Parts: sequence; structure tokens; C-alpha cells
Amino acid sequence: MSAVAAGFVLAGARVVTPDGVLERGWAAVADGRIAAVGVGTPPADAPVRDLGGAWLLPGFVDLHMHGGGGHDVAASPDAMAAAVAFHREHGTTSTLISLVTAPIEELRARLAWVAALCRRGTGTTGVLGAHLEGPFLSHARCGAQNAAFLRAPDRAVLAELVAAADGALRSVTIAPELPGALELVADVVAAGAVAALGHSDATYAQARAAIDAGARLCTHLFNGMRPLHHREPGLVGAALESGIACELINDGVHVHPAVTAMLGRRPDQLVLVTDAIDAAGVGDGSYLLGGQQVRVQDGQARLASTGSLAGSTLTMAAAVRRAVQVSGLPIEVASAAASGNPARVLGLQDSVGAISPGRSADFVVLDDDLQILAVMAAGDWCGPGPERRRDALQTVTNTGLDQ
Ligand SMILES: [Zn+2]
Ligand SMILES: [Zn+2]
Repeated sequence: MSAVAAGFVLAGARVVTPDGVLERGWAAVADGRIAAVGVGTPPADAPVRDLGGAWLLPGFVDLHMHGGGGHDVAASPDAMAAAVAFHREHGTTSTLISLVTAPIEELRARLAWVAALCRRGTGTTGVLGAHLEGPFLSHARCGAQNAAFLRAPDRAVLAELVAAADGALRSVTIAPELPGALELVADVVAAGAVAALGHSDATYAQARAAIDAGARLCTHLFNGMRPLHHREPGLVGAALESGIACELINDGVHVHPAVTAMLGRRPDQLVLVTDAIDAAGVGDGSYLLGGQQVRVQDGQARLASTGSLAGSTLTMAAAVRRAVQVSGLPIEVASAAASGNPARVLGLQDSVGAISPGRSADFVVLDDDLQILAVMAAGDWCGPGPERRRDALQTVTNTGLDQ
């Protein structure tokens, strides 16, 4: 147990693992990784921090995030880093950075910012890479995407964007009914990224063809696509039937709580995302998304011009809390949807997304009401700020939480 002796143990927690909840569970951490997981008396050869019966979940993995804490990822490299830091304090220890439709030269510049954040190290920033939400999307279902910069699938443009990302491009949302979309799906897969389907007016057959061509994710299922119809199930039907992963924006606005409950019965398919914009964590007011005016009222973000929903003000913690408290999902299902499933979409299930030996020591500590008490990334406490954490975790023993 020398690896454990070098580190510390989080104990006295309800540990949510892929195999269920461990009452009075513990997780030993060494060198930023989970060294061992168990129940009952923790190993005696390392300092123990007792979590006083709190929930211990794996850190959240968000596949879809445009901003937060007043910071728009498209504004500047500093704003991009600040948005990531905001969500980290709210439990997102691994994230993609989502870029809305924009002129190609602007997308290239922003992809380079993401690449620079990735080079600083995932353990340092939590940034796994970029998600391109556009420009190869449907005019009919563009939602809050800026229609002026949408374009037909273009393999040369995709190649330019892949090059600009310098290995950091992790997913691309494509409308599968556009001419050339299937070739583009194949190119995205060949570039080592996830082809996602969304902002689309596709029929079932068109969507199914793209899934057969290698698409593995549906971008915010139900939003930005034709509704499910029993005689023309569209992208919604194709995604659910095929078993590909399906993002859900679980804020009670984008989808009804009953829809979240239905998706909870497909526990391997459900992926909770925020689709958060800069207004997350800030409050009502006026904001910009992709150069367009957005008004946030009662936590709902809508385009000032059309009233279209324009992202959310969610955090991953709030999405998980609603899934359990409003839609009645078992906590292990909500946790998998917020961590293990998105990690698997990216092929990173062996390094993040679960409380299992060998994974990064990324944790979210939640109280009985599923509010965040503390966040740990790669073995370091990183949220929600030392003072609130000290107040929240008064039961911590031995060395305390502040390292
Ligand atoms: Zn969208
Ligand atoms: Zn989005």
C-alpha cells in the first residue's frame, strides 16, 4: 500500500461508483489518482479526511459548454479559461469548450486558444478539447446559432479547422441531411473526433445513415431538431433507437422533467450537459452569444430577436440535482449521465468519469440536498473556495481539507 501511504484517504462518504453506492465508503488518493476504493475502516497508513456521510461522486464531465460566471469562451483566451474555472468550482472537472457558429477565421483562432489550454495539461485546466457546434448546421433548426455564418459541409474547411485545433478537436455537431454530411461525418471520425448530430431537420432515414457512417452522439436531444413523430421519428427517433449517446439540457426549460425521467430508463445513453452561456452563475440581464443579443429572464436565456432558447444558465451540479430531485433518477444513474457516460463518448473512460482505481482523483462532494460542498481535481481541492468549503465541511478530521 505504499502508493496509498504517499497520499490521503477520503472516508465516511456515500461513494457513488459504477457498481452502486458504497455506504461508509472511502477512496484512497495518491499522485493525483484514485489508488483504492473500499467500505468501512479506511487504510491506516495515510491521513484520513472524514466526509461526515456526504455524497462522493466522480467529477463531472461536460461535453457542451459555451461560458459561465460572466465569461464567454469566444471572447478571449482569458475569458475562455475563466469560464472553465467557473464550472470547475461547480463540479465540472473535465470539459469540452463549445464554439458556436462563426466566421471560419474566428473559429480557427478560438480553436488555437483551446489547444493552448489543453497544452497546459488536463489536470491543471480540466480542458479536454473543443466541440464545434457549427458551422455545418441546418438553417431550419439553427436555434440561436448565427445563420449568417452557417455553411454546407465542406471537407476542406473541416480540414482547416482540424489543423487549427492541433489535436484538440474532440467533437463536431453536424446536420446529417445537408449535402456532403456523410463524408464529413467520416472525416470527423478519421480525425479522431466524435461526430455529433444536431441542429438538424433530418428525417429518420437521414439521421440513421449518419449514425451508420459513424456518428456517436446526439447534440441536445429534442432541442434544435424536428420533434419525434410516430410516423416520422426524425433524428430523435434515430438517436434513441440506435443507442448512441444523447445529450440532455436538464434545466426544466429545454425539456420537461418527465422527458429526463424517460431518458433515465436508458442509463447508458443519457449524457447530461449544461450548454451553459456566460450568464450561468451571474443572473438575469443582457448577454451576447455568437454576436447576437441574448436576454436572460428567470434563468432562461433567449435570443432577443426571435425568442429562441439560447443555451442555458445551468451548472452540471444543478443538472444532476434536478435529475434526482425533480425527475426521480437514482443518484448512480444521474452520476453516470454526468461523468461516466460522457467520458465514454470521448473514449476517456479509463482515465476520468468514475470512482475506480486508476482514474484521476476528480471528485464532487455533495450534501444531503445535493448542493456542492467541495470539488477535487487530480487530487487537489479546487472548489467552491476555501472559506465556503471550511464552513461546509466542519466534520473533516485530521489534516483538514486545505492543503
Ligand atoms: Zn445548440
Ligand atoms: Zn450549444
